[in-house]
Amino acid sequence: MLRQVAEGVLVHGSEFCQSNAVVVQGRAGVLLIDAGIHGDEMACLANDLSELGQTVAAGFSTHPHWDHLLWHAGLGAAPRYGTARCAATARDRLSGGVDAVAKAAGIPEQVPLDLLGLIIGLPAETAQIPWDGPQVRIVEHQAHAPGHAALLIEERGVLVAGDMLSDVLIPMLDLNAADPIEDYLAALGLIEGVAGDVDVLIPGHGSAGGADQIHARIDQDRAYVHALRDAHVPGDPRIGPSARDGWDWVAGVHERQLQRLAQRGERDGTPR
Ligand SMILES: [Zn+2]
Repeated sequence: MLRQVAEGVLVHGSEFCQSNAVVVQGRAGVLLIDAGIHGDEMACLANDLSELGQTVAAGFSTHPHWDHLLWHAGLGAAPRYGTARCAATARDRLSGGVDAVAKAAGIPEQVPLDLLGLIIGLPAETAQIPWDGPQVRIVEHQAHAPGHAALLIEERGVLVAGDMLSDVLIPMLDLNAADPIEDYLAALGLIEGVAGDVDVLIPGHGSAGGADQIHARIDQDRAYVHALRDAHVPGDPRIGPSARDGWDWVAGVHERQLQRLAQRGERDGTPR
């Protein structure tokens, strides 16, 4: 079911990790950001759109993780975009075949893989998504995944955060990057710099938040990354006893990040 979160901006939720597909109404069809996860959910979205008399004019994937690279035939054949680095990374990871990726990532059975990752990389430094609708600014940064983009829809006061600023998931760093901690802190600073007039924040997973949530979540994510950097125990509500029901696995993600960073520190000879 589509739910309006701002004028001309709607969200379609998934059962999988409380994922959010975002629909932006344009002049001739909609922009669909991170289309969804399960086949029946995307078919439901396609149906909701056709009941509204809308077609999909363009798609966008915020980053090259499988749960943001999906599509369904019922959504049509609109061009699907991502940043150049996102598209190159997706192509690279899928070069060994979709089945290998599905197995390695443990992709659930209900997820249709035939249209996975078929995105067009926008030229580096592209400032806006090319489509006929409200301007959608691409705020690219290196933090959670290569070529990750948050999207700012200024006319609607909406920030689509991709896998940043979630109320259920801790910052998940790109541990293959040269300096994942610094990258993440820089990305949070970049988003903070553009988020001044935002009224609605939509994370890739979790709940949408109002203006008061934006700085609260930036601060919460920054505090988590600082704790990770300094190997302090983070007092983070998303892990530990205060984690929401069904989200206790996030503590395991934290432990793995801590371990990987410690191993890197030993390898580089830098204390962490
Ligand atoms: Zn992700």
